[in-house]
Amino acid sequence: MVLTKIKKKYCIIMHKVLKIAFSEKIHLMTVASFSTEVLLGSNWEAHWKAIEMMRSNPVLGVNGLPMKAPVDELGATALAHSGTGKGRNLYDSPSARESFRFGTLIATMLSPQTKDAQTAEAFHRLQKLVSTSKVTGLAAEHCFIAPNLLECTLDDITQACTPVSFYKTKAKNIQLACERIVANNYTTTTYYHESSIDGGSNITGKRIEESAGIPTDIQDLLSYKGVGPKIAYLTFSIAWRKDEGICVDTHVHRLANRLRWVGSPLPKKERATCNTGLAKLPSNQWKDTSTPEKTRVQLQKLLPQSHWGEVNELLVGYGQTICSAKKPMCYVCTLRTECNWYNTNKASSKWNHTG
Ligand code: SF4
Repeated sequence: MVLTKIKKKYCIIMHKVLKIAFSEKIHLMTVASFSTEVLLGSNWEAHWKAIEMMRSNPVLGVNGLPMKAPVDELGATALAHSGTGKGRNLYDSPSARESFRFGTLIATMLSPQTKDAQTAEAFHRLQKLVSTSKVTGLAAEHCFIAPNLLECTLDDITQACTPVSFYKTKAKNIQLACERIVANNYTTTTYYHESSIDGGSNITGKRIEESAGIPTDIQDLLSYKGVGPKIAYLTFSIAWRKDEGICVDTHVHRLANRLRWVGSPLPKKERATCNTGLAKLPSNQWKDTSTPEKTRVQLQKLLPQSHWGEVNELLVGYGQTICSAKKPMCYVCTLRTECNWYNTNKASSKWNHTG
């Protein structure tokens, strides 16, 4: 009870602080809208910072810790790391790196239209399938690679995939991906540091050619069955740390529209005169993007490429904790004055405790 009161108080204060911070920018946006009408998403940086603050705020979480989102512990990055061995450095060995990259691809191929917990369950089942098969030849934690998974039957792979949606199709696509990875024998060159075995301080660096474990070219990966832009971009961003495009899932699509980072006003002749600027146009005079793919194209124009890799994790975590599809916790959100969804629905929103 006391904690709830403190949280509520905190939210009111944060809301006021951010309102002041935004007001100057909103004013500029409004003025700009009359001359250029180009202000779509122009406040994204302030929104980004506000979301980061809410995601890391211990007051909003439990036991003095920030709110944990499923993506933090069960997202593709976390799953791929689980294949490299607990506590081990990702760059310990070529096999750890290969296992990490392959694990990233499998996690992302399992994930469409599936909750993180189910994706994680199927992923760990596949890992177990490989580690208990006879074909290892590697440290147990590094054996999750395409040639080893390919040794398992389609029936076994399908069985392991049952927790995820469309598991039969996904199992087939995973097996096909393994076949292509093995047939192509992709390699990559890595520069890494090697510690001396006796734990001494003599560290040497060298370049080595090693098995890549997944395609090294994004177009190649996009030609894999069952791999669309969402899977390919997320895989590349995590596995190769290359941001070739933004991974837009249902959370990113929803939030980018709610905050009007994307979308478009109706043509001028079809809408009433509005003196609040395009970002504040009423919903009936605004068109959200109709598909995640259209959102991706607009987002890539808006955000600098340096942010492409981070936007998915930031917005997915925010969408899983605070800004859910059906019952967003607007009463703790510091973006209410900025949010189109809130401003349209606040009258009927039972979450509008402080409005
Ligand atoms: S819908 Fe609610 S929680 Fe989501 S951004 Fe808008 S105000 Fe915040």
